[in-house]
Amino acid sequence: MIPYGRQDIQQADIDAVLEVLQSDFLTQGPMVPRFEQCIANHVGAKHALAVNSATSALHIACLALGLGKGDWLWTSPITFVASANCGLYCGAQVDFVDIDSRTYNLCPDALEAKLQKAEQEERLPKVLVAVHLCGQPCDMQAIHALSQRYGFRIIEDASHAIGGKYQEEFIGSGRYSDITVFSFHPVKIITTAEGGMALTNDDTLASRMNLLRSHGVTRDPALMTHEADGPWYYQQVELGFNYRMTELQAALGVSQLERLGDYVARRNALAERYDEKLADLPVVTPWQHPYSYSGRHLYVIRLKLDEISVSHRQAFEALREQGIGVNLHYIPVYTQPYYQPLGFQHGNFPEAERYYAEAISVPLYPTMSEAEQDLVIAALRKALGL
Ligand SMILES: *Cc1c(COP(=O)(O)O)cnc(C)c1O
Repeated sequence: MIPYGRQDIQQADIDAVLEVLQSDFLTQGPMVPRFEQCIANHVGAKHALAVNSATSALHIACLALGLGKGDWLWTSPITFVASANCGLYCGAQVDFVDIDSRTYNLCPDALEAKLQKAEQEERLPKVLVAVHLCGQPCDMQAIHALSQRYGFRIIEDASHAIGGKYQEEFIGSGRYSDITVFSFHPVKIITTAEGGMALTNDDTLASRMNLLRSHGVTRDPALMTHEADGPWYYQQVELGFNYRMTELQAALGVSQLERLGDYVARRNALAERYDEKLADLPVVTPWQHPYSYSGRHLYVIRLKLDEISVSHRQAFEALREQGIGVNLHYIPVYTQPYYQPLGFQHGNFPEAERYYAEAISVPLYPTMSEAEQDLVIAALRKALGL
């Protein structure tokens, strides 16, 4: 089976993790701050907070922005459920903004129209989660301009997008958002097994997220309500969690980060090769906005169903039967059973549903060979009945 994505672990990664295992600290040592510093420097952000998953990062990001009961969080329907669930964790309500037909990211025009309506109904969102699907950044400048007009805060869910750029700047620089979140799950661009990170340029948000990831407990006198009882003293000043990343994970992350540029370059080269080789097939290949340098986490094709004699499902199954580990990213979140009682219906976001009816993620990962890619292309031709 050729998987849709897979990690690349080299001897340097193994050595880095072994070294930590033999050191004094398995958690809460020097490696997590080092990983944070490396990423912050790389993307040009002031603060980076490592946590045990991107899901945790999204949760503490929402809490740090003050999201709670009575508030709304908006995001894209075409994303992993975590981008929306973080709002529910905080007791907020969740709503969606339909996608752009070319980038498949949240559409700024649809956002503006929905904001105008929400303003009249006095239910404007407090937080917008902008998801950079497949690694291609959202139109952040347009979204940021709307946030200034309508007063919402922005989290970039850049789980797919580390190493990519928006308007020549690395994603995570935070120019057009409050907080950016990365994921280090093994299928993502670089991995720490499980792991995530929240980046921000705001000192207060960083301090809050730092508390929230570790029980809301502090040893910093500046954050305490009164003077320490003694040198043993710590204070719990928030209701936090244990969302900490381990030293082993951080060491793996530091080691992986050295190859980030190579990974993204290789992913782009393979994606461009797909573009060329699929040009004469009845599929839509991923359009790239000129402002975008995508991390290319995923390569999504859309079937031109009116030009082929097989259904979406038949094509998908025929690919799996030939050992091609295709996938579908993603099922519109609001159609999930858990979201149905929250007031959503099929048909709510037509562009998202059109996408869902046609999309297939084909294998793409940096260690994929051109021979493997050719097998995928041959299998696709066959699956489409060509
Ligand atoms: C993978 C992913 C997440 C969750 O990441 P974890 O690190 O597995 O918690 C969130 N949002 C998107 C868009 C993702 O792809």
